[in-house]
Amino acid sequence: MVPGSVGQRAWIEVDLKALWANWRLLAAKARGEVIPVLKADAYGHGALPIARFLLERGARRVAVATVAEGRALREGGVEGEVLLLGSLHPLEAEEALRWGLTPTLSTLEAAEALAGRARALGLTPRAHLKVDTGMNRVGFPFEEALPALRAVEALGIRVEGVYSHLATAGEDAAFVEVQRRRFQEVRRALGEGYFYHLENSYGLLLHGGENVRVGLALYGLVPGFGLKPILRLLARPTLVKRLKPGDRVGYGGTYVAKGGEWLATLPVGYADGLPRGAVAWVKGPSGELCPVAGRISMDQTTVLLPGPVGLEAVFEVLSADFGPTGLCAWAEARRTIPYEVAVHLSRRLPRFYL
Ligand code: PLP
Repeated sequence: MVPGSVGQRAWIEVDLKALWANWRLLAAKARGEVIPVLKADAYGHGALPIARFLLERGARRVAVATVAEGRALREGGVEGEVLLLGSLHPLEAEEALRWGLTPTLSTLEAAEALAGRARALGLTPRAHLKVDTGMNRVGFPFEEALPALRAVEALGIRVEGVYSHLATAGEDAAFVEVQRRRFQEVRRALGEGYFYHLENSYGLLLHGGENVRVGLALYGLVPGFGLKPILRLLARPTLVKRLKPGDRVGYGGTYVAKGGEWLATLPVGYADGLPRGAVAWVKGPSGELCPVAGRISMDQTTVLLPGPVGLEAVFEVLSADFGPTGLCAWAEARRTIPYEVAVHLSRRLPRFYL
């Protein structure tokens, strides 16, 4: 299928050249390895094509959150290391082993389940150990990292990596330093011979890092560091019309026409991931800013435009920049973070990789 081909009303384009440029910029910043974080379908960008693209070009491993996400990569033919960032639940141990995924351990219960299922299947269990250095969400407490490691290794599990996650990167530099000091303590106590990784996007961009796990920055959704968003959401109008004075638009009739405005109905709505209630703009076919008029519906969004256009015209609902039609601006308009808008971009929008 060609982007925007017959029958396509709305679609997503992902610019792999821009992804590559982001990757290189991040790889140049990190002193060690960059692990692409592809959870939640690569933050809505499509995990499988991005995993393939980066693994073919030098990524040593990829990270997802869940066993199901890892399995989908394996079913898509990905053979490299797939790290599961979500703490392993004991009930998931067998599935993780069967699909050759590398789980994260935060509890001895999960470690015991992994070791037990591995014995039953005749497989060697491998894992990364998660250490809690201050987020208090998952991980063995950093003060107990050494006994935890010994207990996990005593079960016959090969611990290949040890990592922690920053709670305040981009928000509280002093606490980043606290977590880094704690992680260094852990590293001194456990010794070399493990693959240690800590920073996320803002951690790397603001503080530097050695082995890092990056999601948001890879997708270019961090302004100010030379990164570029890689995704555009495009749509063709299904209806273009002129409003009469007093016409009301959409649910609740919240937009009331002065009369004479041109209105286009775009076939994307909050079921496609557009944040409902956002006061936002889209880019018209000639690059003009078109404000959203009225409420965003489940499958449709109405926008104002300066003049009539044909139904073949293409609107950029989300543009690959940091301007008023970019994903970051949509997120801000809805008082949320770009992560949330990106991960909610619907599966029903076909993705094209250019
Ligand atoms: N590491 C872990 C454990 C995560 O949960 C995440 C995502 O939240 C990341 C790394 C990547 O974070 P970011 O997208 O901010 O780079």
